[in-house]
Amino acid sequence: MTDADKIKLTILPTGTMHADLTWLLIDPSRMATRTQPERLKDWVPVPTHVVYIEHPDGKKLLWDAGVPRDWEKRWGPTGLDQFFPVDEVTEDMWLDSRLTQLGLEPGDIDYLLLSHLHMDHAANAQLWRETGTTIIVDEAEKEGAFSFDGYNKGAHIKSDYDGLELDTIDADTEVLPGVTLLRTPGHTWGTLSLKVDLADSGTMLFTSDSLYLKESYGPPPIAAGIVYDTVAWFESVERIRQVEQETNATVVFGHSADQMAELKTGPGNYYT
Ligand SMILES: [Zn+2]
Repeated sequence: MTDADKIKLTILPTGTMHADLTWLLIDPSRMATRTQPERLKDWVPVPTHVVYIEHPDGKKLLWDAGVPRDWEKRWGPTGLDQFFPVDEVTEDMWLDSRLTQLGLEPGDIDYLLLSHLHMDHAANAQLWRETGTTIIVDEAEKEGAFSFDGYNKGAHIKSDYDGLELDTIDADTEVLPGVTLLRTPGHTWGTLSLKVDLADSGTMLFTSDSLYLKESYGPPPIAAGIVYDTVAWFESVERIRQVEQETNATVVFGHSADQMAELKTGPGNYYT
C-alpha cells in the first residue's frame, strides 16, 4: 500500500482565542465558596483547528471552518468578543491562508463537514457559498440554528450560515470509506464528531466541542461550560469513550492547547 492508497489527514491550527477556563471546564474545585470567596480566574488559550482530508477516492474533505478574520465586527453584537477574543493568530493561520498554503480554492473541497454552527467553527462557511461543495451538518443542528429570530442565539450567529445549502444527517454516517460522522449532541442541538480510520496512525476521533479538553473527559467526565443539553452531553462523552475503546482511537479534543502542541500540524505534516 503506497501513500496514494491511503487517507492523508492534516490538522491545521486556524487561530487561538483566549477565555476564562470556566467556559471550558466546570470544575467545582476552582469555584468560589463561602469559605473561599476569591473567585479564581484562569485566562487560557483556546486554539481552534480544522482538519483537511485527502481521500484515496480523489475526494477532499474539510472538517470545520475556524474563526473569522473580522471576528470583532461579527462577534461584537453578541458580546462574546469580550469573552473569546481571537487575540493569538498569525497571518498564516486564518483559514483562507491555510487553503492557499494547500493550493486550494474553497470549491476544490468536495465535502465541508461542520461539527456544529457555533461562531468559532462555522464562521468561514460563507466561503463555500455557491461553490458546489457539499456542506453537511446534523439535522437537529440545522433546525436549531434557524429556530430563532435576530442576529444570534448564544454563539450561533445566523449570518455565518444563512443562505448556504446545508445537507443534513440524522444518523451516524460514513461519508467516504474510513471517514465517519458520529452524532454526539449535547454541546449544541446537533454537535458531530469525526472518526477517521488511518492506515498507519490508526483511528483518530475529532470531538470538536463535544469535548473541549482532556480534563473534561475523565472518567468520570467533568461537565463543560456552554452545554445545551447536559444529559445528552454526558451520554455523548460515553459514546466517544466507547468508540475510543473499540477502535483504540486517538481522541483529538476541540480546544486543547496542550494537545495541539503535541500533534503534528500544518501543511505537509499529515497523518496517514
Ligand atoms: Zn461550540
